[in-house]
Amino acid sequence: MGKCHFCENIVDLQNSHIIPECLYDKIYDEKHRFIAITDTNQNQLIINQLGYREKLLCIKCENLFSKWEGVLKKTLVDISNYNSSHLKIEKYSQTFDHVQKIEFIPFKKSILSIIWRMSISNNDYFIGYKLGPYEEKIRTVLKNENVTSFIFPILITKVLVNNKHLNDFFCFILKSI
Ligand SMILES: [Zn+2]
Repeated sequence: MGKCHFCENIVDLQNSHIIPECLYDKIYDEKHRFIAITDTNQNQLIINQLGYREKLLCIKCENLFSKWEGVLKKTLVDISNYNSSHLKIEKYSQTFDHVQKIEFIPFKKSILSIIWRMSISNNDYFIGYKLGPYEEKIRTVLKNENVTSFIFPILITKVLVNNKHLNDFFCFILKSI
Protein backbone atom coordinates (compact mmCIF):
# COMPACT_ATOMS: atom_id res chain seq x y z
CA MET A 1 0.00 0.00 0.00
CA GLY A 2 1.09 3.56 -0.63
CA LYS A 3 -0.08 6.93 -1.89
CA CYS A 4 -0.67 7.15 -5.63
CA HIS A 5 1.40 10.11 -6.81
CA PHE A 6 -1.32 11.16 -9.25
CA CYS A 7 -4.72 10.77 -7.53
CA GLU A 8 -3.23 10.63 -4.00
CA ASN A 9 -5.46 7.72 -2.91
CA ILE A 10 -3.90 5.20 -0.54
CA VAL A 11 -4.00 1.95 -2.48
CA ASP A 12 -1.86 -0.89 -3.83
CA LEU A 13 0.70 0.73 -6.11
CA GLN A 14 1.67 -0.64 -9.50
CA ASN A 15 5.25 -1.09 -10.66
CA SER A 16 4.86 1.83 -13.05
CA HIS A 17 7.09 2.65 -15.97
CA ILE A 18 8.83 6.02 -15.78
CA ILE A 19 9.21 6.03 -19.58
CA PRO A 20 6.57 3.94 -21.40
CA GLU A 21 7.71 0.51 -22.58
CA CYS A 22 6.56 1.36 -26.12
CA LEU A 23 9.35 3.95 -26.41
CA TYR A 24 11.99 1.30 -25.66
CA ASP A 25 10.86 -0.96 -28.55
CA LYS A 26 13.37 0.36 -31.04
CA ILE A 27 16.29 0.77 -28.64
CA TYR A 28 16.36 -2.76 -27.17
CA ASP A 29 18.93 -5.03 -28.80
CA GLU A 30 18.29 -8.71 -29.59
CA LYS A 31 18.96 -9.57 -25.92
CA HIS A 32 16.40 -7.00 -24.77
CA ARG A 33 19.11 -4.61 -23.52
CA PHE A 34 19.66 -0.93 -23.96
CA ILE A 35 22.44 1.45 -22.97
CA ALA A 36 21.65 4.56 -20.97
CA ILE A 37 23.88 7.58 -21.42
CA THR A 38 23.61 10.42 -18.97
CA ASP A 39 25.37 13.75 -18.62
CA THR A 40 24.78 13.78 -14.86
CA ASN A 41 26.86 10.70 -14.09
CA GLN A 42 30.27 11.49 -15.56
CA ASN A 43 29.28 10.05 -18.96
CA GLN A 44 29.04 6.58 -17.49
CA LEU A 45 27.39 4.02 -19.79
CA ILE A 46 24.86 1.78 -18.08
CA ILE A 47 23.43 -1.37 -19.67
CA ASN A 48 19.82 -2.09 -18.70
CA GLN A 49 17.52 -4.96 -19.55
CA LEU A 50 14.19 -3.48 -18.57
CA GLY A 51 12.79 0.01 -18.68
CA TYR A 52 12.88 1.87 -15.39
CA ARG A 53 9.98 1.08 -13.07
CA GLU A 54 8.90 2.33 -9.70
CA LYS A 55 5.90 2.08 -7.34
CA LEU A 56 4.20 5.30 -8.41
CA LEU A 57 0.59 4.88 -9.50
CA CYS A 58 -2.61 3.05 -8.61
CA ILE A 59 -4.15 0.74 -11.21
CA LYS A 60 -6.77 3.33 -12.21
CA CYS A 61 -4.17 6.03 -12.93
CA GLU A 62 -1.88 3.47 -14.56
CA ASN A 63 -4.70 2.61 -16.99
CA LEU A 64 -5.34 6.28 -17.71
CA PHE A 65 -1.65 6.86 -18.53
CA SER A 66 -1.65 3.69 -20.68
CA LYS A 67 -4.53 5.07 -22.74
CA TRP A 68 -2.53 8.23 -23.48
CA GLU A 69 0.58 6.14 -24.26
CA GLY A 70 -1.39 4.07 -26.78
CA VAL A 71 -2.10 7.25 -28.76
CA LEU A 72 1.54 8.39 -28.43
CA LYS A 73 2.87 5.07 -29.69
CA LYS A 74 0.46 4.81 -32.63
CA THR A 75 1.16 8.40 -33.66
CA LEU A 76 4.95 8.08 -33.51
CA VAL A 77 4.93 4.74 -35.35
CA ASP A 78 2.64 6.15 -38.07
CA ILE A 79 4.82 9.24 -38.49
CA SER A 80 7.95 7.10 -38.60
CA ASN A 81 6.39 4.85 -41.29
CA TYR A 82 4.83 7.74 -43.25
CA ASN A 83 1.63 5.72 -43.24
CA SER A 84 -1.51 6.26 -41.22
CA SER A 85 -5.22 5.58 -41.42
CA HIS A 86 -6.10 8.86 -39.72
CA LEU A 87 -3.07 11.22 -39.70
CA LYS A 88 -2.27 13.55 -42.58
CA ILE A 89 1.53 13.43 -42.97
CA GLU A 90 3.35 15.60 -45.51
CA LYS A 91 7.06 16.02 -46.00
CA TYR A 92 7.71 19.69 -45.42
CA SER A 93 11.49 19.66 -45.89
CA GLN A 94 14.43 17.32 -45.41
CA THR A 95 14.21 17.74 -41.66
CA PHE A 96 10.55 18.62 -41.04
CA ASP A 97 7.29 16.80 -41.63
CA HIS A 98 3.92 18.47 -41.36
CA VAL A 99 1.51 16.26 -39.43
CA GLN A 100 -2.18 17.01 -38.99
CA LYS A 101 -5.08 15.32 -37.19
CA ILE A 102 -3.03 14.16 -34.20
CA GLU A 103 -5.20 13.27 -31.20
CA PHE A 104 -3.73 16.26 -29.47
CA ILE A 105 -4.92 15.92 -25.86
CA PRO A 106 -3.82 12.32 -25.14
CA PHE A 107 -0.66 12.80 -27.20
CA LYS A 108 0.40 15.89 -25.28
CA LYS A 109 -0.65 14.45 -21.92
CA SER A 110 1.45 11.38 -22.61
CA ILE A 111 4.56 13.49 -23.22
CA LEU A 112 3.90 15.65 -20.16
CA SER A 113 3.23 12.56 -18.03
CA ILE A 114 6.65 11.14 -18.95
CA ILE A 115 8.38 14.37 -17.92
CA TRP A 116 6.32 14.43 -14.72
CA ARG A 117 7.17 10.79 -13.88
CA MET A 118 10.88 11.47 -14.47
CA SER A 119 10.60 14.33 -12.00
CA ILE A 120 8.81 12.41 -9.21
CA SER A 121 11.01 9.35 -9.64
CA ASN A 122 13.47 8.45 -6.88
CA ASN A 123 15.71 6.64 -9.37
CA ASP A 124 19.20 8.21 -9.43
CA TYR A 125 19.15 8.12 -13.22
CA PHE A 126 16.49 10.86 -13.28
CA ILE A 127 18.15 13.09 -10.71
CA GLY A 128 18.74 15.77 -13.35
CA TYR A 129 15.05 16.01 -14.30
CA LYS A 130 13.52 17.68 -11.25
CA LEU A 131 10.78 20.14 -12.18
CA GLY A 132 10.52 21.90 -8.83
CA PRO A 133 7.34 24.02 -8.68
CA TYR A 134 6.36 22.88 -12.19
CA GLU A 135 5.90 19.30 -10.98
CA GLU A 136 2.60 20.14 -9.30
CA LYS A 137 1.56 22.45 -12.15
CA ILE A 138 2.02 19.64 -14.68
CA ARG A 139 0.09 17.22 -12.45
CA THR A 140 -2.78 19.75 -12.45
CA VAL A 141 -2.63 20.08 -16.24
CA LEU A 142 -2.72 16.28 -16.57
CA LYS A 143 -5.81 16.12 -14.33
CA ASN A 144 -7.69 18.72 -16.36
CA GLU A 145 -9.87 17.44 -19.15
CA ASN A 146 -8.46 19.82 -21.73
CA VAL A 147 -4.94 20.94 -22.39
CA THR A 148 -4.01 23.61 -24.90
CA SER A 149 -0.89 24.10 -26.97
CA PHE A 150 -0.09 27.24 -24.96
CA ILE A 151 0.44 25.42 -21.67
CA PHE A 152 3.88 23.80 -21.48
CA PRO A 153 4.49 23.75 -25.24
CA ILE A 154 6.49 20.74 -26.40
CA LEU A 155 8.78 20.11 -29.33
CA ILE A 156 9.47 16.63 -30.65
CA THR A 157 12.06 16.10 -33.33
CA LYS A 158 13.56 13.16 -35.14
CA VAL A 159 17.25 12.58 -34.52
CA LEU A 160 18.94 12.83 -37.92
CA VAL A 161 22.55 11.91 -38.66
CA ASN A 162 23.65 12.43 -42.29
CA ASN A 163 19.96 12.92 -43.09
CA LYS A 164 19.17 9.42 -41.81
CA HIS A 165 16.54 9.03 -39.10
CA LEU A 166 17.96 7.23 -36.05
CA ASN A 167 14.87 5.46 -34.76
CA ASP A 168 16.82 3.42 -32.21
CA PHE A 169 17.71 6.48 -30.17
CA PHE A 170 15.69 8.87 -28.10
CA CYS A 171 16.62 11.66 -25.75
CA PHE A 172 14.90 14.09 -23.42
CA ILE A 173 16.11 17.63 -23.14
CA LEU A 174 14.34 19.74 -20.55
CA LYS A 175 14.70 23.46 -20.96
CA SER A 176 13.30 25.96 -18.56
CA ILE A 177 11.84 29.06 -20.17
ZN1 LIG B 1 -4.11 6.96 -8.68
